[in-house]
Amino acid sequence: MILILFGPPGAGKGTQAKLLSDYLKIPHISTGDILRQHVKDGSLLGKKAKAYMDKGELVPDALVTDMIFERMQRPDANKGFILDGYPRNLSQAEALDKNIKDKNSRIDLALYFQTSKDIIVKRLSGRRVCRKCGRNYHLVNMPPKKDMICDDCGAELYQREDDKEETVINRLNVYLKQSTPVLDYYKKQNKLQTINSDFAAEVVFKVIEDILGARKSAGSKK
Ligand SMILES: [Zn+2]
Repeated sequence: MILILFGPPGAGKGTQAKLLSDYLKIPHISTGDILRQHVKDGSLLGKKAKAYMDKGELVPDALVTDMIFERMQRPDANKGFILDGYPRNLSQAEALDKNIKDKNSRIDLALYFQTSKDIIVKRLSGRRVCRKCGRNYHLVNMPPKKDMICDDCGAELYQREDDKEETVINRLNVYLKQSTPVLDYYKKQNKLQTINSDFAAEVVFKVIEDILGARKSAGSKK
């Protein structure tokens, strides 16, 4: 099973990716996590990426693609995987198609977590991050045990500039503009399923379970 997840910041995509990874027993491949890991490990790809990041530039498509494809080849991903944050544009989507086709496999489904603006603002503006270890909290949904202190490392929590209301709305608009061509690409292939992600994580997950279950029974009838 190869799944691709799409959704603006605050759509709860990361949470669903983790739930799906446990449920389907396939790895969750997140572009953000992989990029951070490569930089942290000081790998060759990580060093190349860091050179761009240090200059405040975007890490080029090809470099991100190399990291993702390398991860997709590891043994734990041979029964499938969940992509999160990739592909980001049409050229990545085409590179991904080619790579997967070369392995005689195919993308099963692209899930788009659609969320209303108000809910995204509410979710993201409550988010707090640990200064030291980067763990995420939420003032309402996932508060730390001690006010504004990280449960894991005891460092102080803060609100990222990105999570302030004006920035959130701006990020959402940028996301919608960038993702439309990629979503259309999967829609044309009849692989896109839009999920209303305004609800709580358990409710959204149940909807995905039903979609996967329906596909499975449709497949077995053939
Ligand atoms: Zn911490």
